[in-house]
Amino acid sequence: MAIITTRPRGTLDKLPDDCVKCRAVENAALDTAAKYGYREIRTPVFEHTELFKRSVGNTTDIVQKEMYTFDDKKGRSLTLKPEGTAPVARAVIENGLLNDALPLKLCYVTNCYRYEAPQSGRYREFSQFGAEVYGADTPLCDAELIALAYDLFNALKMPDDCYKIEVNSIGCPDCRHHYHDALREYYSRHLDALCHDCHERIERNPMRLLDCKSPECGAFKESAPVILDYNCDACNSFFAQFKAGLDALNVPYTVNPRIVRGLDYYTNTVFEFVPKSGAVFGGGGRYNGLLEQLGGAKTPASGFALGIERIISFLDTFGNNTKCGNTPDLYVAALGESAALFTFRIVHELRKREKNAHCDIVGRSVKAQMRYADKIGARYSLVVGDNELQNGSAVLKNMINKDSVEVALNADDIIAQIEPV
Ligand code: AMP
Repeated sequence: MAIITTRPRGTLDKLPDDCVKCRAVENAALDTAAKYGYREIRTPVFEHTELFKRSVGNTTDIVQKEMYTFDDKKGRSLTLKPEGTAPVARAVIENGLLNDALPLKLCYVTNCYRYEAPQSGRYREFSQFGAEVYGADTPLCDAELIALAYDLFNALKMPDDCYKIEVNSIGCPDCRHHYHDALREYYSRHLDALCHDCHERIERNPMRLLDCKSPECGAFKESAPVILDYNCDACNSFFAQFKAGLDALNVPYTVNPRIVRGLDYYTNTVFEFVPKSGAVFGGGGRYNGLLEQLGGAKTPASGFALGIERIISFLDTFGNNTKCGNTPDLYVAALGESAALFTFRIVHELRKREKNAHCDIVGRSVKAQMRYADKIGARYSLVVGDNELQNGSAVLKNMINKDSVEVALNADDIIAQIEPV
């Protein structure tokens, strides 16, 4: 097929019905976050490549294999954002947002780009909703973040028994040290069976062994040491208080000691939202070291990101009943030139009064206009010709139950006869 009429691999066209679903999820997310005090932030589509190398981590798959990186005309290396957290952290530092009242709560909806092997639920361009808190180093902050996500899932009418909130603690850098040693020891016993990348991971970042996507290496995950066994007392106590926070809010969760998350910047709390079938639709955790790592003041931080396409396909599995929000209320057909100008004006007036109203703008016959009204699903129609203009009234027809009623040709009278959706 011609390349100009084929979208790039791993991308999606969001057609009008898809957009209605996206917008419903995005609005529910932003509205829920607002109740918890989160304010929206928007950052550029591309950033300096170094930002992601420093934050996401040089040894992650994202940085090593998946970034859309290019040089601009002045030879600067730029990268389309593969995730939303690092750009927000950069914006927080650059704009001095930590001088605002702390904790600082921010949320975003953004497109992300990763050069991954496309498959169901995995795209090269996808969108995320994320929420981030800066300046709170408490277990309750993390519990509140999950409560926000759970509140959103309920607003989207996701049944509780169709997904799990899985939580874990990956400790602080000190605990991590012991855990790395245990992982190295375990995986070196299986060296021959590991892929080339995992050989490097053993040396450079053993936790990344746990998210290797190759089936041979995946087989060793089950019996690998789990981090919870290596956490220090302080980290264990933080985790216990975090779980107590979730219990206090009746947020259901399960501890999954195998969650480590794919990015380097996490500390302590990590969590994932896992559907019964299908791909994980979100996750997050605490990243106390991130701001400092990017040259900002040492500031605790925590957050999560949800994949909007994955949430939509999850909602679809149990009958996503998001209705198209823009069904036309009324089609006003015109017969003759004076009627055409009249319908043009009355439709404009109806729109100003929040009605979704349409008239002919292509010069069709009345018959063709009515066929169009039918096709677009107009709930009511009105035909205006010279007679109607002279009498000042016309017949308003309910296109669904076929009832008709005589209405005066003014916006007030027409609106009074249109039942709300
Ligand atoms: P991550 O930053 O990898 O934890 O991703 C957070 C969420 O974004 C995931 O749980 C997915 O819902 C979504 N996501 C990540 N990568 C992709 C992708 N390639 N395609 C679609 N959604 C994705």
